[in-house]
Amino acid sequence: TDTNAELDDRARQLDREHVFHSWSAQAGLAPLVIASGRGSRVWDHAGNTYLDFSSQLVNTNIGHQHPSVISAITEQAQILTTVAPAAANLTRGEAARRIVRRAPSRHNKVFFTNGGADANENAIRMARLHTGRDTVLSTYRSYHGNTGAAVVATGDWRRVPNEYARGHVHFFGPYLYRSEFWATTPEQESERALRHLERVIQSEGASSIAAILLETIPGTAGVLVPPPGYLAGVRALADRYGIVLILDEVMAGFGRTGRWFAFDGYDVEPDLITFAKGVNSGYVPAGGVIISDEIAADFDETVFPGGLTYSGHPLAMAAIVGTLDAMDAEGIVENAATIGRDHLAPGLAALAEKHSIIGEVRGEGVFWALELVADRDSREPVSGAVVGRLKKELLARGLLPFTADNRIHVVPPAIVTADEVAEALTTYDEVFSLDLS
Ligand code: PLP
Repeated sequence: TDTNAELDDRARQLDREHVFHSWSAQAGLAPLVIASGRGSRVWDHAGNTYLDFSSQLVNTNIGHQHPSVISAITEQAQILTTVAPAAANLTRGEAARRIVRRAPSRHNKVFFTNGGADANENAIRMARLHTGRDTVLSTYRSYHGNTGAAVVATGDWRRVPNEYARGHVHFFGPYLYRSEFWATTPEQESERALRHLERVIQSEGASSIAAILLETIPGTAGVLVPPPGYLAGVRALADRYGIVLILDEVMAGFGRTGRWFAFDGYDVEPDLITFAKGVNSGYVPAGGVIISDEIAADFDETVFPGGLTYSGHPLAMAAIVGTLDAMDAEGIVENAATIGRDHLAPGLAALAEKHSIIGEVRGEGVFWALELVADRDSREPVSGAVVGRLKKELLARGLLPFTADNRIHVVPPAIVTADEVAEALTTYDEVFSLDLS
């Protein structure tokens, strides 16, 4: 109706007048209005509906407006909407218990944060205090968040204008499609990337290095699934040189890969695990660090010098309890695995077979990237203009995509159905069939 269309206009107008957006030049923005949603779909006030194959910022693993998570938040809101972090609170304890239950057995404590960046910030702090060392090694192809140390640990362009924290060194992780190591097989890539990392450790001086911080599967950088042996090799290097291994599971964790943690699929156990996003699908902001017993014990008698007013906020904790229980009860992690194996893997492979713009398909579960190239032999990335055009055409057909650099990330919620995947594949196929020049 007209009234609803007016609400969309009003949302756009207020946004343009008063809302300052992330990572953007503010002039010329024309954000999509999203008023509500359910499951894998979102819509504006006028009722234009989109199949959400972005999961927003790859966080709504349980889909939009899951009724049992909404009930959990609503019930908590009736009881206690906020509480100081120093208090003991039952909902917070229940959330922590559910999280550590899924972690390796030597991890029994959770420090709650507001999101992923401050989870990494605090994990870095713990690693520095634990080792008495400064340097944090992380990869060039990574995103760890937008705060002091987390953004400098980040590898991509967002680090550069924010480089005020000291003690960060970057290295190259494995990425066979664009290998830094002239590798032609996954085994070679893994072996050479490990050799490179060991040389960086030795060259920086092992006794100065507090932590290696890695996304288990680098997400925003392109869903870079690590080759066989790489993560186990990093663990071995961390052990050899007395370095804390932090795995950032903010995007990859809580069902995205079809496993609770992405690292469950590899022969590796981190010392610190950072999480956010999928733990409660972002219904209320939350993140945290899952701490090994050994590192937690450092702070038995010594004060931990960190804290947040909203650490373990009851509404966020209720959303975690509701989310993890619903994921269990409804087999949502298993659904992500099945959808990945039986629908997305073959469906995206068929798209790549048909459309030469797709240079590589990578991923697992509901965590995939299509690497788009102007030329399959040279692997030259498509231009930003081509990605912009694709995005516009997908939106026009009712699919909300996730794009990054020369890629489309296919990242629906973990509750996505086979029918919804089929619908999305048809839409991708249609837009890849257009003349995009
Ligand atoms: N780490 C990873 C792997 C991420 O993908 C993100 C966000 O995209 C973050 C950390 C930062 O999380 P937040 O935006 O909640 O601070």
